[in-house]
Amino acid sequence: MKKDLKKQMKEWRRHFHQNPETAFEEVKTAAFVADYLRGLGLDVHTGIGKTGVVANLKVGDGERVVGLRADMDAINMQETTGLPYASTVPNKMHACGHDGHTATLMGAATLLAEEKGFNGTVRFLFQPAEEPGKGAQAMVDDGLFERFPMDEIYGIHNASEIPEGTFHTRVGGIMASEDNFTIRIKGRGSHASAPHLSIDPLVTAAEIIMALQTIVSRNVSPIDQAVVSCTELYMDGVHNAIPSNVEILGDTRSNKEEIQALIEQRMQAICENICSANNADLDFLYTHEFAPTINWAEGVEKAVAVAKKVVGEENVNSNCDPWMGSEDFGIFLKHVPGCFLFLGAGKSEERSENTPLHNSKYDFNDDILMTGATFFRELIRHTLPQ
Ligand SMILES: [Zn+2]
Ligand SMILES: [Zn+2]
Repeated sequence: MKKDLKKQMKEWRRHFHQNPETAFEEVKTAAFVADYLRGLGLDVHTGIGKTGVVANLKVGDGERVVGLRADMDAINMQETTGLPYASTVPNKMHACGHDGHTATLMGAATLLAEEKGFNGTVRFLFQPAEEPGKGAQAMVDDGLFERFPMDEIYGIHNASEIPEGTFHTRVGGIMASEDNFTIRIKGRGSHASAPHLSIDPLVTAAEIIMALQTIVSRNVSPIDQAVVSCTELYMDGVHNAIPSNVEILGDTRSNKEEIQALIEQRMQAICENICSANNADLDFLYTHEFAPTINWAEGVEKAVAVAKKVVGEENVNSNCDPWMGSEDFGIFLKHVPGCFLFLGAGKSEERSENTPLHNSKYDFNDDILMTGATFFRELIRHTLPQ
């Protein structure tokens, strides 16, 4: 059976790879998942958070409930792998391996539905729109935790930077928050030869860009991780005219909610004060895109014990460095305890030789499908013992 399941997971994965759907449009993917899980006898609910799927599997009389989550969405990118099962949809591809996550969780559902070996309820969550960081919240807003209460939740993400078949996780912040900002500075344009007649928003912007660098270096504790990056600069001047308007756009990351709040508050104060010193007007926009993903100690303890059993102690790093990328799973962990882990997908020991995630040549490593599915099965047996 297991040999067949391995083959089947690979086929599912490649089917999803060939037919990618992006945020909140995962209609065919969700239908494929739901149909299969109904066939397994699970209690399947669709349309949660627009295109999300929740499938329940209850065994025995145990009252505890554990959630396992996969994400289904692809990204807007033209695939260049040239593979026989490459994306058939222009400008959409599975470059983050969510095709593999979906197939892995379907595999885990198969193992648990057929072999059981636990007492309680498992909820299989297939979430939409992880990439823009909106799908988890959409499921929560749709009553996820009221309709389908859970005691714990777990999720994995494939990681090509780390060797195939290894698990990496940590207690606390494992993936960063992402916030975006737009700083609009309104001055007064003038002839380039007559700066005294202007309120130069570009010089003000330059001061702001430099001053923002002091948030990480002077306000955030050196023990914590944070990034403040100005990434775009727009203005309406020409080479012989001082502009009237400048816009600075950018992105910040951090691993704790308090640091996230500190960055926002310091940015606003710096922008207001520099603009005021220069007589410029300010419009400051700051949006929260991703919550930080903060692992619970008890969730990590369980996940690490199970990972060690599945891949061996030497292949588990229970205190990896935090990653500054962002992940929608953090929203679930705000509601219930649990753990997010990376499952190594790197075919080469040499990090630089592996194709990175979000690269147009990315192709999920099918050799880790069974590792992921087995991990989930063992995790359920561990968290919902008979
Ligand atoms: Zn991803
Ligand atoms: Zn991604």
